[in-house]
Amino acid sequence: MPTVTRLVLAALFLLAAATSHAATYGSEALLRGLWTNAQLAGSPADRVVTKPWAQPPDHSPPARLTPETLLPPVPGSLREVIRRVNPAKGERLVALTFDLCERATNVAGYQNEIINHLRAQRIPATFFAGGKWMRSHPEKAMQLMADPLFEIGDHAWTHANMAVVDDAEARRQVLWTQAQYELLRGELARRAADRGLSAEMAAVPPVPRLFRLPYGRNSARTLDLLADLGLPVIQWDVLGEWDDGSGSPRKSAEYAMKRVHPGSIILLHANAVPKNTQLVVPILTRLLAAAGYRFVTVSDLLRAGTPDTVRDGYFAKPGDNVQYDTLFLGGGTQHPRPTDAKHQ
Ligand SMILES: [Zn+2]
Repeated sequence: MPTVTRLVLAALFLLAAATSHAATYGSEALLRGLWTNAQLAGSPADRVVTKPWAQPPDHSPPARLTPETLLPPVPGSLREVIRRVNPAKGERLVALTFDLCERATNVAGYQNEIINHLRAQRIPATFFAGGKWMRSHPEKAMQLMADPLFEIGDHAWTHANMAVVDDAEARRQVLWTQAQYELLRGELARRAADRGLSAEMAAVPPVPRLFRLPYGRNSARTLDLLADLGLPVIQWDVLGEWDDGSGSPRKSAEYAMKRVHPGSIILLHANAVPKNTQLVVPILTRLLAAAGYRFVTVSDLLRAGTPDTVRDGYFAKPGDNVQYDTLFLGGGTQHPRPTDAKHQ
């Protein structure tokens, strides 16, 4: 084959590859059209977490119980628990993931300093949002939804432990969250229309397309249920908030750097519950960038290679999360009672 033909074919291939990787998660015009910089930056009030059991548990459902958009079933290669991806060309890609967990027994926060850092540094990330969290934080959820840097995944309605609850509850936890996202997306669309920005809504996905297991716990049936609902299960291979007891953010970042590989998925939280994630993130992102890593969303990472999967989720070692089956109450949706002081 003549060199020129080969070059043309290579260029066409790259163009096709680039096009197929070009997922959209939002629109800068929408984000900047609907909120001021000050509104996006937020305030310390965003970081308030209420005391568990200060109010009776809130198990109320969303205003609509089922999503209008149903996803096609997940293909075979993505039907297990995904911990990382092997990038096809060995590219130094990494996905930062932030959980927005909220149980029935309190209202969690929104760690605005983390999001502000990611926006300032133009770092893409994936947020796994609880459905109840989205309902408690509608403005923040819509901002994350509208932001082209960020992808939103589903993290169950009230953080149910999928290894413990029955199939009907597992299904509700997933579908209520998808429906809550749609309700907020509907509100986003109304605001966009008011500002003449309706066309921008095409860039906002109709529903979340990924799921993260609360506590990393699942049963074999959970995997079938989620795959049939069209949601690949995304866990992690690197803990971003490991703490040796010193509370040192630098040590957490260095622990993560020792374990990261091309295609890694890093677990972090943005619900203001782990107390120093906002201090870890700037150190970790600086170290990753210095080591030549490029930040991508989980969906873009999945498109760039083949996943490493397991049958059961875990934190750092298989079985290290089984303790949560009995530690948290109400099928994982409730904190331990306040009498057990160390888990408040
Ligand atoms: Zn969680």
